[in-house]
Amino acid sequence: MGDTPVGPVFQAVDGPLPVPCAEVPGTRLRRAWRFMDWTLSHTADEPDTPPVMHRYRCVSEEEDGTVCGAAGPEAEDFTLAQAWPFLHARQSPEHRSFEHVARVPWALSVRPPAGRALP
Ligand SMILES: [Zn+2]
Repeated sequence: MGDTPVGPVFQAVDGPLPVPCAEVPGTRLRRAWRFMDWTLSHTADEPDTPPVMHRYRCVSEEEDGTVCGAAGPEAEDFTLAQAWPFLHARQSPEHRSFEHVARVPWALSVRPPAGRALP
């Protein structure tokens, strides 16, 4: 999974304000704004990141059109998660449609655009 750049986003920046405005003498800046690059990233390489978890859910329809919805246990090991549809098919041989549900940690990070350091 790759990073998804979102920015640049124009946003207010916290700082010691108000400060004298260099552009218009005699005035003070009440708020500073700058472009910041926001990126949505998979956090697998960071410490304390929870593992990616896998689960299968039965989406087979009953005779009345309702979805079964039975789900297997959540597992970090993808191969273990894949065992559940076979177990479920033993109990309900006509149920053969499943969805893979993954819980994947992602995080937003923000930094100034490349080439623009914070003052
Ligand atoms: Zn089912």
